Amino acid sequence: MRIVVLGAGSLGSLLAGALAAADADVTLLGRDSEHVRRVRDDALRLTRPDGTETRVPLAVTTDAAAAADADLLVVCVKSYDTADALAGVAEHLGGADVLTLQNGLGNAETVADYVPRERVLAGTTTHGAVREAPGHVRHAGRGDTTIGRYFAPNDARVDAAADALSAAGIETTVTDDPEVAVWTKVLVNAGINAATALARVPNGALVESEAGERVLRRAVEEGVEVARAEGVAVPSDAVERTRAVAERTASNASSMRQDVERGRRTEVEALHGALVRRGAANGVATPVNETLADLVRLAEEG
Ligand code: NAP
Repeated sequence: MRIVVLGAGSLGSLLAGALAAADADVTLLGRDSEHVRRVRDDALRLTRPDGTETRVPLAVTTDAAAAADADLLVVCVKSYDTADALAGVAEHLGGADVLTLQNGLGNAETVADYVPRERVLAGTTTHGAVREAPGHVRHAGRGDTTIGRYFAPNDARVDAAADALSAAGIETTVTDDPEVAVWTKVLVNAGINAATALARVPNGALVESEAGERVLRRAVEEGVEVARAEGVAVPSDAVERTRAVAERTASNASSMRQDVERGRRTEVEALHGALVRRGAANGVATPVNETLADLVRLAEEG
């Protein structure tokens, strides 16, 4: 199976590096940057979760034509870049399946604007990846990965994609309902991301204080209502699951907190913002997510 990973950031570099280290046929497709040049001219420096380091020779390019003979394109750009990134590569794609492992709502639908719906796969991964420096990615923590065809039944090609990722140490499960997986992760993000970004606290603070617990619970409960209004059977224990993630990642800074603190654009529109918009469309009030989203927007503007 020939795999092209789109987006040479943290997650894309980790996945491409893990696949290359396992001798998969993989190419990393990125924008021109110091990172891409370092990987191309030397190799990817990959730090494993146990701290060991490897130098992984990895095919990397900025030429979208590299996707022409791909069987699988894995989308690893931020949610706000999905449309641009797909627009740049779509004309080169042959019959490739396109898998989004991005956080947030709407990514599969955006991919489907550029490739036939039956070729869209979506899912989630809870692996942690951090691009430490140009040419260097750190696998910050192992996790689970779930994928499935988003608008059509699964088939042997989905199993083959999961097998390829699993063989590279990214243990991957196939689900018949990737929409539930995507929503379930969105609910966790809704409970943790904006609150930790705005209060500038580590994830664990949300389960260690009554105020934090209240914000987490209300943001998730609103999200559950929106999911149900859209007919998505998210788990009834979404709040407890979110609390468990906050506990498990107690000392971590959420990605949104890191983005706000570094003055970078956040994925708020695909998370809290999307819950608000979909809530409004379904007659579900989402005042907590709306306020969180507005405060993050304010922080971004500042
Ligand atoms: P990131 O480090 O910011 O990487 C995104 C990459 O996409 C950047 O390298 C960017 O290029 C590239 N890009 C943007 N537009 C592009 C285009 N048109 N063509 C080619 N490349 C393009 O973000 P990330 O942390 O990897 O996250 C990616 C997605 O995965 C997000 O939705 C995130 O929520 C999700 N996710 C991340 C993790 C994680 O641990 N990092 C885990 C699970 C899910 P430049 O370098 O030029 O800006």
